[in-house]
Amino acid sequence: MKRIAVYPGSFDPVTNGHIDILEQALALADEVVVAIGIHPGKVPLFTFEERVELIDQAVTEELGAEAAGRVRTVAFDGLVVDAARDLGANVLIRGLRDSTDLNYEMQMAGMNGAMAPDIKTVFLPASPETRPITATLVRQIAKMGGQYDLFVPDCVKKALDKRLAS
Ligand code: ADP
Repeated sequence: MKRIAVYPGSFDPVTNGHIDILEQALALADEVVVAIGIHPGKVPLFTFEERVELIDQAVTEELGAEAAGRVRTVAFDGLVVDAARDLGANVLIRGLRDSTDLNYEMQMAGMNGAMAPDIKTVFLPASPETRPITATLVRQIAKMGGQYDLFVPDCVKKALDKRLAS
């Protein structure tokens, strides 16, 4: 049976931290579906289509064509567990950076597990080099003219440079 994992988040934009978690998830699952949460009222820096394109490019650049062939990106706007069921996924991937992530993620994993016992949450630890990275800080650093190329794949750096110049 094909093991499908869902990896939900905002990915605005995809960072080296997300790529690290994706690489680990691809070692556990046959296919990883990156599910981009769409929140009405929250204006993202990159549109859904732009974020999909950046994830595709970044995965190919950083992890290669074989990995890219096993990653798919979709949008969802309701409960993650509903999206996972619709996708035929029984594994829910979350990355853990620190105890703040852990406390919040334990609440979500517990409540998701109660609503959907058939879908198992798997926490993957951030690698030491990518552990401090958050997409929110990348956006802030970029807007303030700081050096953010350490935290994102090349294609994201180019897209951010272009977005902020316009
Ligand atoms: P962020 O928290 O950076 O804004 P998202 O909301 O898109 O990113 O996060 C989606 C998932 O990716 C969450 O499980 C989050 O904990 C995880 N994640 C984000 N950045 C990292 C990182 N640097 N290392 C490990 N996991 C991460």
